[in-house]
Amino acid sequence: MTTDNQKKQKLTGQCLCGAIAYEIEGKLGLIVNCHCSKCRRWHGAAFRTRAAIASKQFNWLRGEEHLSKYTDTTSHITKTFCSICGSNLISYHAKQPEYIGLPLGGLEQDPDARPTMNVFVGSKAPWYDICDGLPQHDEWPPGGPDAVRTAKE
Ligand SMILES: [Zn+2]
Ligand SMILES: [Zn+2]
Repeated sequence: MTTDNQKKQKLTGQCLCGAIAYEIEGKLGLIVNCHCSKCRRWHGAAFRTRAAIASKQFNWLRGEEHLSKYTDTTSHITKTFCSICGSNLISYHAKQPEYIGLPLGGLEQDPDARPTMNVFVGSKAPWYDICDGLPQHDEWPPGGPDAVRTAKE
């Protein structure tokens, strides 16, 4: 009998310079494109595609000593990035350390899941048109922040 355990997906990712690498075991949780102004500035892009995962699914493979952190004082979310090349890595909320926000841009494989919705569309970049046909929410989707931070494993 084949169980989910035996064929757990393993994904790896790394920063641009390669100093930092990580792996994720198991399924990605909900994947969203976040169009909020914070994600836009943080990533220097129209939006951030991120998945929720459980902290225990995530492991640094190398370079943790090169990790820099920035905690946003209004959202209390800590954002991590490579201190050498500046690549954006995981984020987490001080009050919910059991969940991690994983940016899909650093992955080296095709995960077996896709973004399901656009959030914070109310503050999206005026120079970007959303054409993916996915549901759009002005702010959080139904269920609020917890809906986005739920992991699947
Ligand atoms: Zn780097
Ligand atoms: Zn955002």
